[in-house]
Amino acid sequence: MNRRDFVRTSALVAGAAMVSPLGFAKAEASMTGKIVTATGAIDPDAMGFVLTHEHILVDFIGAAEASKERYDADDAFEVILPYLQQAKELGCQTFVECTPSYIGKDAALVKRLSEATGIHMLTNTGYYGAANDKYVPAHAYEETADALSVRWVNEWEEGIEGTGVKPGFIKIGVDKESLSEIDEKLVRAAARTHLKTGLTIMSHTGYGIPAHEEISVLKEEGVDAGAWIWTHAQNEKDNAQHKKAAEAGAWIAFDGVNANEKRLLRDVKHLKAMKEYGLLGQVLLSHDAGWYRPGEPNGGKFRPFVDLFETVLPTLKENGFTQDEIDFMTLENPKRAFAIGVKEI
Ligand SMILES: [Zn+2]
Repeated sequence: MNRRDFVRTSALVAGAAMVSPLGFAKAEASMTGKIVTATGAIDPDAMGFVLTHEHILVDFIGAAEASKERYDADDAFEVILPYLQQAKELGCQTFVECTPSYIGKDAALVKRLSEATGIHMLTNTGYYGAANDKYVPAHAYEETADALSVRWVNEWEEGIEGTGVKPGFIKIGVDKESLSEIDEKLVRAAARTHLKTGLTIMSHTGYGIPAHEEISVLKEEGVDAGAWIWTHAQNEKDNAQHKKAAEAGAWIAFDGVNANEKRLLRDVKHLKAMKEYGLLGQVLLSHDAGWYRPGEPNGGKFRPFVDLFETVLPTLKENGFTQDEIDFMTLENPKRAFAIGVKEI
């Protein structure tokens, strides 16, 4: 063991003793290579067809007022269940639920729906700094990146809000322009949480400028871009930006697929570019659809999880994509993107 490794190992042991008597190093080691779902760890090969970015429930009220008191979980369950059953009939076997804390994350509801449908479902830890910080809790401004990371590592170690459900990834969000102070803090907290847990970081990002800044922050923190998913990459029109991020190792998520003609054309263009670059091995697809909306009659308008199966994948085939290429994006890439594992530089 050289000095650098020794220092790192000592720091890990010291950190583990501070955070939990069990120690995160041990917990992480036992999960390495697994997919962590709301009902437990599974092998990546058990994931099957994955919807990598969807929502069951989102509450837009804002961090200060977000609360599980704002809806009846039984009512939400009844409304959401048929949409998940429909997705399963169409071929979805694993569903990545991307609603973060303070905007409607409900780990108990995710677990209950997973048990009722037989779909593997993942939930997350982390805070959402997009939408002009409306969903960032007040304590995040006061606390350091390390303190936020301790909170998120604690959800990994102890489960989320007393449910025993562990996060399967880290979900953060940043605004459209250059990273603000709070957005940068969330990225650093996510990087430090990744190093302690091996959880992949999915960041609501959208555009190239913040995307490349996030990759730089991760690098400063010693985290490889392969631990990071550029969510909503479809919003960036310039394919060279996707190429640059993918070449750095990042996952590129075109996760707003839709049967709407304009969006179909947009996504076909992006995917053709990635194919031409030889980078389809780093692409993820999903709808960013759903969701039950607390405060609206009967949960409001719910967008079903169907367009990928019924319209988008057939359109890709018409545009020369092979079944193998589609399988890569929907079955193979998600296994590697979400498997637990520390990716250090
Ligand atoms: Zn989303």
